[in-house]
Amino acid sequence: MEHIVVIGGGQAGSSLVARLRTAGFEGAITLVCGEAVPPYQRPPLSKAYLLGEMEEARLYLRPESFYAEKDIALRLGSPVVAIDRAAKTVTLEDGVLPYDQLALTTGSVPRRLPAAMGGNLGGVYEVRNLLDVGRMQPAFGPGKRALIVGGGYIGLEAAAVAAKLGVEVTLVEMAPRILQRVAAPETSDYFRELHRAHGVDIREGLGLETLLGDEQVSGARFSDGSEIAVDFVIVGVGIAPDAALAEAAGLAVDNGIVVDGQGRTSDPAIWAAGDCATFPRNGQMIRLESVQNAIDQAELVADNMLGAGRDYDPMPWFWSDQYDVKLQIAGLNTGYDRVVVRKGDDGALSHWYYAGDTLLAVDAMNDSRNYMIGKRLIEAGKSPSPEQITDPATNMKALLRQ
Ligand SMILES: Cc1cc2nc3c(=O)[nH]c(=O)nc-3n(C[C@H](O)[C@H](O)[C@H](O)COP(=O)(O)OP(=O)(O)OC[C@H]3O[C@@H](n4cnc5c(N)ncnc54)[C@H](O)[C@@H]3O)c2cc1C
Repeated sequence: MEHIVVIGGGQAGSSLVARLRTAGFEGAITLVCGEAVPPYQRPPLSKAYLLGEMEEARLYLRPESFYAEKDIALRLGSPVVAIDRAAKTVTLEDGVLPYDQLALTTGSVPRRLPAAMGGNLGGVYEVRNLLDVGRMQPAFGPGKRALIVGGGYIGLEAAAVAAKLGVEVTLVEMAPRILQRVAAPETSDYFRELHRAHGVDIREGLGLETLLGDEQVSGARFSDGSEIAVDFVIVGVGIAPDAALAEAAGLAVDNGIVVDGQGRTSDPAIWAAGDCATFPRNGQMIRLESVQNAIDQAELVADNMLGAGRDYDPMPWFWSDQYDVKLQIAGLNTGYDRVVVRKGDDGALSHWYYAGDTLLAVDAMNDSRNYMIGKRLIEAGKSPSPEQITDPATNMKALLRQ
């Protein structure tokens, strides 16, 4: 009987094994989870779950009974430490498993502050997994002072949660503006104002020089020489694809595990999907860090492991929750040269990214209607003119029929 082993029980790993069964695979499946719990969703870790408004049980992607019912063996809390490609085996901390086909869905690891900058001090946290949240949650409380390092989505979401819980928050971003890597200045401006209105002290174009403290963090010094006192720090300075196992096994790795359009690595028996994989799109190698990508790519890889032979052509979408604002993003804005703004009722707002006449992406703030319209336009390859978007008289739904 054929045995498929999947390493990494996260969003992608869970989707991959579920799809193998829906697609009719009747051989043996083992999902190896480095963490001691079944696969769960990460987005709430910096949103409702961190805020204490969501129970742990709701984080799990599927009940544990699902895996038993589908005859999927879960190996919890036992990370794979090595892959032997010649012998086609993987070595776990507590045993060896043979495989016929192998998939790597190992996700990513948060970048840490170097120890020389105080990264190892007590009270310094990253937000990647349930254990991280368990460690940091007791630090949140009215009157506590937090420093958030990094103005990307995770840093901003953590800042919003902390501010809502009465924490005094300072957020530093080394780049000239928050969200610089992922969004247009218009979107950065919107979120800067939102945070400032909730009392968060956002300082852009300012680097962290070092954290201060002996064993426990007590302060921070910045690149302009200024210092603040802090009780805890959350580091949100990006992630790196977790490609260590793949690299040690001699697979091609370049900012992630290199796969072809179908999701196959440089070894034909080994596949990869999710945060850890870098894949070809429009003549470039890219890597996406999102739930959409983890699910869609993993499901495609499952089909391809069974011989479907299809290429991955993602339609990216993403979201972020901060205070009472839901940001929804459709498309990828890479290469945009113009952004136009559509204002709706009740504060609904959307930013539309163009490259020449081509619509690339939409950021919609409390505007799910225009998010859906933008997403469907992009999926259909339709590009209304920027003038149509900004004209309040335009019937947006009618654009789909053009
Ligand atoms: C706080 C936070 C908020 C986020 N918010 C959003 C959001 O709002 N919207 C959105 O689209 N995306 C969001 N993301 C990103 C999204 O969660 C990830 O893109 C997604 O989880 C990627 O899925 P994955 O399966 O590739 O990796 P992961 O979900 O990270 O799973 C990888 C798993 O592999 C395990 N693993 C690694 N190495 C081994 C090994 N050697 N042996 C066994 N197991 C191993 C890891 O322990 C981990 O459990 C957020 C992420 C975080 C951390």
